[in-house]
Amino acid sequence: MTIKKVCCLGAGYVGGPTCSIMAYKCPDIQVIVVDKSKQRIDEWNSDVLPIYEPGLDEVVKQCRGKNLHFSTEIETAIKEADLIFISVNTPTKTFGYGKGKAADLKYVELAARDIVETVESGFKIVVEKSTVPVKAAESISTILHSKQKAGVEFQVLSNPEFLAEGSAITDLLHAERVLIGGEQSPKGKLAIGALSWIYQHWIPEEKILTMDTWSSELSKLAANAFLAQRISSINALTPLCEETGADVSEVAKAIGKDSRIGSKFLQASVGFGGSCFQKDILNLVYICESLGLQEVAAYWNSVIVINDYQKRRFSLRIVHRLFNTVTDKRISILGFAFKKNTGDTRESAAIHLSKHLMDENAKLAIYDPKVDKQQILDDLSHPYISEDPSRVARLVTIHQSAYEAGQGSHALVICTEWDEFVKLDFRRMYEIMEKPAFVFDGRKILDHEALISIGFEVETIGKRFNQ
Ligand code: NAD
Repeated sequence: MTIKKVCCLGAGYVGGPTCSIMAYKCPDIQVIVVDKSKQRIDEWNSDVLPIYEPGLDEVVKQCRGKNLHFSTEIETAIKEADLIFISVNTPTKTFGYGKGKAADLKYVELAARDIVETVESGFKIVVEKSTVPVKAAESISTILHSKQKAGVEFQVLSNPEFLAEGSAITDLLHAERVLIGGEQSPKGKLAIGALSWIYQHWIPEEKILTMDTWSSELSKLAANAFLAQRISSINALTPLCEETGADVSEVAKAIGKDSRIGSKFLQASVGFGGSCFQKDILNLVYICESLGLQEVAAYWNSVIVINDYQKRRFSLRIVHRLFNTVTDKRISILGFAFKKNTGDTRESAAIHLSKHLMDENAKLAIYDPKVDKQQILDDLSHPYISEDPSRVARLVTIHQSAYEAGQGSHALVICTEWDEFVKLDFRRMYEIMEKPAFVFDGRKILDHEALISIGFEVETIGKRFNQ
């Protein structure tokens, strides 16, 4: 089966970059990315794309208007496509049964209903790109087959996405593996073959893994759980290091040399953020609990417990070092994105640190090179963060540079590992700050000895300088 037209429901952090690379690598395929949000589509069609990813602009500019299109005309795109990706959001439920843990599958279900309402003829491959609980494909398939339209046939595949924000383009171009899960029936195999053919335009065949649908769905949750677990494991050693005089960087170096452990993802920090790790682990915990697997649920939940503890512990340390009061003290938050090279702030450590410091009446001067002012204000005004949004207007200012934020501050708090923070002129910064001037390096990116020699008081994760 040859695929000529692909459509993707959802022009977000996954749908946008994934389809851009698909169009770039498959000139023989027309790729249409659709979204319910007109604003998002307008941005994809403009010079300022809705998301920041290194290398994305160039790819989009090269393909847009040729074989890559962004549109709000969802029905037309669905009708014309041979293969339809569902790449919509699957946030954690904020209400009702499973609140705070289960994935909210409302958007996935609506997408499946849009497809079944719209399709009038032909064999359509529907690909679950969103991260979903195990067996979600079964629900999608049931909805797709609920109308029993003559001449219409669907096959559902699972094809989870493993890109990491900040390196999405490289990850997509050089994927370590592509996972395709599907039925082992003749039609299932046909669909798997068709999707596999698309990826083979740029991914070596041996890196395309095919398996049953449920293993594929679970593999995505498991991959994120393992990655987050490593971060929580190294972070769980940091209070021990701080109490005993050990240095977590030395410990990480030592254990990382063991090839059974490996050195990647052993960077201690103020904690992980992002839209996926927490959401997907909570989802896994919820699935375990629903199956009566309480011990397994508790095991995975501990990854989240340590992550929350790490963020709380760091903010307490800031307050403690600033003489147990930060009321009306200006504190610079450097970095608001959840990691470098992205403008995404979802679940960022900066949001949680800011919340704790606002609760202590600190005045926050925030700077991030890629996050715009309104995004920061919206994040901090969210009911989960501020019970009284007027406090945000009173306590928070947003700045155009690290120096502007640092001016008159008692402390700099590094929340995101942006390269530009490493290159700051800290002598200049020291001059414009209140004294004693503190640096709280939540990402362990700065030269701490150099900062101490300038005169800064330095605090970081997993190491104490003032024992
Ligand atoms: P996102 O919120 O950035 O984008 C989702 C988009 O889907 C939104 O623009 C929304 O308007 C649109 N949408 C919702 N329902 C729609 C419908 N019926 N038709 C058309 N558009 C619709 O989300 P994202 O970060 O791109 O994540 C999408 C999925 O991929 C999630 O399940 C997520 O867990 C998973 N994922 C995300 C990442 C990541 O790094 N962000 C990585 C791997 C997997």
